[in-house]
Amino acid sequence: MGKISFQGSRLGKEAALRLYGEADLLELGSLANEVRHLLNPSPNVTYTVDRNINYTNVCVSRCGFCAFWRPPEHPEAYVLDLETLESKCEETLSLGGTQVLYQGGLNPFLGLSWHLERLRLMRSMGLWVHGFSPPEIIFMAKTWGMSVREVLEKLVDAGLGSIPGGGAEILSDRVRRAVSPLKCSSREWLQVMREAHLLGLKTTATMMFGHIETEEERVDHILAIRSLQDETGGFTAFIPWPYQPGKRTLRARKVGPVTYLRTLALSRILLDNVPHIQASWVTQGPQIGQVALHFGADDMGSTMIEENVVASAGVRFKVSESEIRELIVKAGFRPLKRDVLYRPLE
Ligand code: SF4
Repeated sequence: MGKISFQGSRLGKEAALRLYGEADLLELGSLANEVRHLLNPSPNVTYTVDRNINYTNVCVSRCGFCAFWRPPEHPEAYVLDLETLESKCEETLSLGGTQVLYQGGLNPFLGLSWHLERLRLMRSMGLWVHGFSPPEIIFMAKTWGMSVREVLEKLVDAGLGSIPGGGAEILSDRVRRAVSPLKCSSREWLQVMREAHLLGLKTTATMMFGHIETEEERVDHILAIRSLQDETGGFTAFIPWPYQPGKRTLRARKVGPVTYLRTLALSRILLDNVPHIQASWVTQGPQIGQVALHFGADDMGSTMIEENVVASAGVRFKVSESEIRELIVKAGFRPLKRDVLYRPLE
């Protein structure tokens, strides 16, 4: 993919910060839209149908922004049994889903064979598993005394198809020490992605912003993704989504739609080597999701059959496949159902 240049050069950190801080909203939107149409000239806006399966909510990481985790002895703590997993997968297939987003807490009681059995089950049912974000992989490697590469090879061998970009939050160790000190470092997050890409896996990248980070740290995060992508080319999409403060989690001023759209647009402009940018209608609502399509996003993500993590923070927007298609049409684009690797399914 060609690099987008502004007056002959790619935007660096200083220029990016100036653009982010000074350009007006519509100027940013129109620049992002230009980049979007250069990289994805068709009027297609893609979406996917999948199910978010969280195999456990037991987590020892206890991140300050997360309302989903429970300690092992908590009455609401759970680990999904094989039968329940199977019935969730059957339901996904019956609703036209072809893949599952499969993630969970950092649960020290689950061993390698426990995970492999579940991956094999999902593969045998014909589902693509987009699973295990980098903090889970790092946790497995440390708990089981294996290298990241060994863990990835085992998981891939049992059916893992690709890796979601969760757990990146902000790739700044200052921020991570403050909001999620027990989770993997920025370097480890990038290391998992690098290893995965080298093994031929595709992954996405995310950024959860709007808590304690500075604008500079957001820009650094986006540039870290761009630089790894220059090296490996393994990211399919970038998904910036605003932190949703809840009653039990880190207090922060909720990010409004303007900051969301500015950040989305900046991502599209800077990530000239990442093919797709995803709108986050699960956190922003369907209407802002439509506006996002004019601010650089070319993908509406997933019609989530089940979403627990954002729902734990009290945010729950839900739309069906036909509604998502209608949203795309009404925003002036052509809906196209895709798989995890962004291949058309129609
Ligand atoms: S964000 Fe993930 S790692 Fe952090 S507490 Fe929640 S489930 Fe655990």
